[in-house]
Amino acid sequence: MSAADLSAARFHNEEAARKFLEEIRWPDGPVCPHCGSIGKVYENASKPGVYRCAEPECRKDFTVKVGTLFERSHVPVHKWLLATHLLMAGKNGVSAHELHRMLGVTYKTAWFMAHRIREALRPMSSRRPMGGNGRTIEADEAYIGGKEANKHKNKRQGVGGGAGGKEPVFALVERGGAVRSFHLPTVTARTLRAVLVAQVDRKSFLMTDEHGAYKMVGQEYAGHEAVRHSTGEYVRGEAHTNTLENYFSILKRGITGTYHHVSQQHLKRYLAEFDFRYNERMALGITDAERAAKALAGIEGKRLTYGGSQAG
Ligand SMILES: [Zn+2]
Repeated sequence: MSAADLSAARFHNEEAARKFLEEIRWPDGPVCPHCGSIGKVYENASKPGVYRCAEPECRKDFTVKVGTLFERSHVPVHKWLLATHLLMAGKNGVSAHELHRMLGVTYKTAWFMAHRIREALRPMSSRRPMGGNGRTIEADEAYIGGKEANKHKNKRQGVGGGAGGKEPVFALVERGGAVRSFHLPTVTARTLRAVLVAQVDRKSFLMTDEHGAYKMVGQEYAGHEAVRHSTGEYVRGEAHTNTLENYFSILKRGITGTYHHVSQQHLKRYLAEFDFRYNERMALGITDAERAAKALAGIEGKRLTYGGSQAG
């Protein structure tokens, strides 16, 4: 990220920020969040950015923040845009402490802001299945977090919420495509299958390690190969889970290096953050600014319900 990026008016000037967000949310003109009417508004002459719906039976006031994750926040839009940009730039995320310093908001506000942005990154629950005919999906589990003293433990011994405090993460990646990761309560044939059949087209080819939990469900797919990690085998021709290992190494480095500790309750939001950055990565020709704009598109129609409304 260059310093020039951060000098853009929308990161410092509230009117520029509001207009930027309006262009992302309303490419065809303001949309009334109360009745859905498009482009039929009066702008309040003394309060720029406050619109009144022109539909006779509606006539309600709104701003660009209404109906979004930013609605109940007193934080100005330009700080939201800067926070989103910082979170989307680079590979490892940005800590609440860094946001607190860079945005000039309290630590608590920075923490809530980061979580609301992560919520914007969470995909809709009804996604199309991954893969399909001729496509290969790698599936694997990793254990995230936990205390340093327990990190030598073999991942097979790790149990969610156990002594090490590590949490099981199950991830799927389509070769040459996107990743989806999930925080599971436990890793069993049943929990892995539930995710696989909901997320992965059965015409796909499945690549896993030799974990017994994949044996049965593997038969439901067009093909299934397992590499024997326990005997030191990591690649056998096309059979490997290296794409996913690469993702897990970014995830672990980010969680350990930037966030230090991630509670079980919030892990799914951090996974959404790392999935989003991976899926909108620079290697695909997407710039930091484009990634941030895509992130902002996700603030629509979402609300955070846990006690965050009074902070920030
Ligand atoms: Zn209306």
